[in-house]
Amino acid sequence: MAKPTLEMTIERVRMDLPDTKTLRLTWPDGYDPQFKTGQFITLHWPEATDYKRAYSLCSCALDRGYFDVTVKREGKMGTRIVDWARVGDKLWVLPPAGKFLPVYEPDTHLVCIAGGSGVTPFRAFARESTLRGLTTRITILYSVRHPGEIIFQDEFRQLEAANPQFRLLVTCTRLAQEQPWEGRRGRIDPGWIGAQVEDLAKTVFYACGSQGLVDAAEEMVVRHLGASKAQMKTEKWW
Ligand SMILES: Cc1cc2nc3c(=O)[nH]c(=O)nc-3n(C[C@H](O)[C@H](O)[C@H](O)COP(=O)(O)OP(=O)(O)OC[C@H]3O[C@@H](n4cnc5c(N)ncnc54)[C@H](O)[C@@H]3O)c2cc1C
Repeated sequence: MAKPTLEMTIERVRMDLPDTKTLRLTWPDGYDPQFKTGQFITLHWPEATDYKRAYSLCSCALDRGYFDVTVKREGKMGTRIVDWARVGDKLWVLPPAGKFLPVYEPDTHLVCIAGGSGVTPFRAFARESTLRGLTTRITILYSVRHPGEIIFQDEFRQLEAANPQFRLLVTCTRLAQEQPWEGRRGRIDPGWIGAQVEDLAKTVFYACGSQGLVDAAEEMVVRHLGASKAQMKTEKWW
C-alpha cells in the first residue's frame, strides 16, 4: 500500500552557503516513523502536486520530530527552495525511502565519496555513528571546487572531535596555486581512495552526487582498487 503524503511545516531554515540551504520540516502530531539513516524524502509544494523531487535526509534516524534536508540552488525545485522557502511554509512530504544505508558493523570501514551537495547523507551517517558511540570507521572523501563550498564544515569538525572513528578529508579541484589551503588539491583519484583502505575486504564504499562523480567513483573502486560491486553503494542525484 502506498505510504501517505504528509503536510509538514518548515520550522527552521539556515543558509549553509550562499547557494545552499538547510530546511527543518516538523513532523505532524502523532507521526513517529521508522526509517533508516541515509534514506531520502520526496517533497512537493502544495499547489504543484506533480512536481516532486527527492532530497537525502541529513538528519539521522535518531533525530526525532523533524527531517532536515540540505538543498543546493540548482534547477527548478532547488532554486525555489533556496530562494523562496521560509519558516512557516508548508511542504508535502513522501516518507523516507531508499537503500543507501550505512553498514554499521564494528570492524567495517565506510569510505564515503562525495562531490558538492552530495555530502548530505554522509552527515547523517557520521551523526548516527557518533551519537551511538559506534566503533565503525567512517572516512568522507569530499570534493569541492574551493574551501568556501564545504557544507557542514564546523559540524564535521565537531563530529571528528567527538568521534575518533570519523574523519573528513577534503580535496579542492579549482584552487589557484597562490590561494592558501593546507588540504589536498586535485580531483579524487584511485590513489587517494586506496590510501584510506587498510583492509579491502572490510571496507564498504559509498558515492553520492552527480552521475559523473558516482560513475567515476565506482570505476575507481571496482576497477582500480579491485573491490567487488557488492562493496560499492551509490546514490545518483542527476
Ligand atoms: C535520491 C536523491 C536524493 C537527492 N538529494 C538531494 C539533496 O540532498 N540536496 C540537493 O540539493 N539535491 C538533491 N537531489 C537532487 C534534487 O532531487 C533535484 O533534482 C534538484 O534540487 C534540482 O531540482 P530540479 O530537479 O527541479 O531541477 P530541474 O529544473 O529539473 O533541472 C535538473 C537539471 O539541473 C542539474 N542539476 C540538478 N541538481 C543539481 C545540483 N545539485 N548540482 C548541479 N547540477 C544540478 C542537472 O543538470 C539536471 O539535469 C537528490 C536527488 C535524488 C534522486
